[in-house]
Amino acid sequence: MSRALIIGAGGVAGVVVHKCCQNSEVFTEICIASRTKSRCDALKAQLEGKTKTVITTAQVDAMDHDALCALIREYNPDLVMNIALPYQDLAIMDACLECGVNYMDTANYEPEDTDDPEWRAIYEKRCKEEGFSAYFDYSWQWAYTEKFKEAGLTALLGSGFDPGVTQVFCAYAKKHQFDTIDILDCNGGDHGYPFATNFNPEINLREVSAPGSYWENGHWVEIPPMAIKREYDFKEIGMKDMYLLHHEEIESIAKNIPEAQRIRFFMTFGQSYLTHMKCLENVGMLSTTPIEFEGHQIVPIQFLKALLPDPASLGPRTVGKTNIGCIFTGKKDGKEKHYYLYNICDHQACYREVGSQAISYTTGVPAMIGGMMLLTGKWNKPGVYTAEEFDPDPFMEALNQWGLPWQEDFDPILVD
Ligand code: NDP
Repeated sequence: MSRALIIGAGGVAGVVVHKCCQNSEVFTEICIASRTKSRCDALKAQLEGKTKTVITTAQVDAMDHDALCALIREYNPDLVMNIALPYQDLAIMDACLECGVNYMDTANYEPEDTDDPEWRAIYEKRCKEEGFSAYFDYSWQWAYTEKFKEAGLTALLGSGFDPGVTQVFCAYAKKHQFDTIDILDCNGGDHGYPFATNFNPEINLREVSAPGSYWENGHWVEIPPMAIKREYDFKEIGMKDMYLLHHEEIESIAKNIPEAQRIRFFMTFGQSYLTHMKCLENVGMLSTTPIEFEGHQIVPIQFLKALLPDPASLGPRTVGKTNIGCIFTGKKDGKEKHYYLYNICDHQACYREVGSQAISYTTGVPAMIGGMMLLTGKWNKPGVYTAEEFDPDPFMEALNQWGLPWQEDFDPILVD
């Protein structure tokens, strides 16, 4: 018997809800809550009658501390699953601490308003000290470690595919003493639109228009956006251009697997996507700073989000596959070893199963599994942790069982 409060009803939350409902033995009751209750009700309507999981819905603004605490106290969940946006991470962690409930999310904290002077002062200090300039970093959430420990509660951060599964892959490979890690995220899907993002456009465009960085010999190396490009022949997809990005899991892997000499993250992008993005950036559409327009304050990137296709609507039209995984290199017993752990996911197969494309699916399934690890006590220690800090075996087993089977290659093509 366990009860989860799921905050968010977007593309990823849709998959989480479907997968929790397939796993009713663990998720006996769920409550779906967001600011727009009608989207929560629509998700409930899709599943009701097809699952043993008891579904309720609620309206809540997660930034409203009292309202969120009131909902948590009323529903009394064993776990709060934050499948809303990174902007809400700290607010939801605060409410979990106050109400004494475990927490998990799929992306680490970044502020909505990057012009906030108080946040900016801390951010600029961190840029200088650490040497990478992404808006997101783990420090904000790691600062809650003692509080969660004292409260005897667990917080699991970033339980999607990347971050999430990529870190479980690293923990799994760690046994084999590897020295370098390359995370490769390839979306070979085609949705037929000239330009659209596969998950929340604001978060996605912020991430890919930022400088890239990687971890090497104990420090960050930052490079201009999209400055390092490689071609890679992905299994079941073929040759794709991929670019080195900064990505959140590099930060926690560098901390928790210090023996890794180099950690890089690459994501594939087509030329058309990059040309659209550059143009939007050049005209100021990716800006997060509000401007005055005909008497209204508008934030350009939020306006752009309103124009772009809703990622949750891409499911029926996206064809092709994703291939996401990690390549490890190292020496064991004096011999050079190479190891590639990856998952291939088919957009249309995901759509047939849960009504979503593979990007939401590859995030939502690990989020359900992370929730299951906490609810069944397999991953359970007071404090704030990322996925590589737990035993990878039960998670790896669950990936095979719940729709994201992994494959191994002991002689992969390496990335130079
Ligand atoms: P969507 O924009 O589709 O959905 C976000 C949901 O959050 C909406 O239902 C929205 O509803 C709700 N929400 C936003 N603000 C609030 C608030 N203040 N209170 C309550 N609910 C709120 O996003 P996605 O589903 O595409 O992405 C969800 C998360 O998954 C993001 O954090 C994203 O970064 C992460 N992600 C992680 C990946 C990984 O591999 N780890 C990969 C892809 C995404 P409403 O506005 O009505 O409140």
